[in-house]
Amino acid sequence: MPRKILIVEDNEDSRELVVKVLKNKGYQTIEAADGEEALEKVAAEKPDLILLDISIPKIDGYEVAKRLKGQEEFRDTPIVALTAHAMKGDREKVIAAGFEGYITKPINVRELPNQVKAYLRGKWESVIGGEEE
Ligand code: MN
Repeated sequence: MPRKILIVEDNEDSRELVVKVLKNKGYQTIEAADGEEALEKVAAEKPDLILLDISIPKIDGYEVAKRLKGQEEFRDTPIVALTAHAMKGDREKVIAAGFEGYITKPINVRELPNQVKAYLRGKWESVIGGEEE
């Protein structure tokens, strides 16, 4: 069974790019364009990993992560923030919200598969360590 990844991103071009890269690597992908849809898809599909844009309509990424981490069933599902605002202090903010880490936008399509693989393995620190101040 291929690992299932939910991509939550309201920008269609960005979402399609991530989907294409991950599909090419053999992952099963599920998509959502806003926070409400994200929560519905997580409940229905139980993905192995969630890539979650912070700025999305209806319910923002921080709130989606908080709600999911508040549920026993999804406490151990890795959630990775997709953010264009990776500045000093953001790492602490995403970790505090329950994210395992973040991937900065614009997405580096050559790095993305390695980042995804590491998050699926639970090796968060090896992914985000290099971005610390
Ligand atoms: Mn967005």
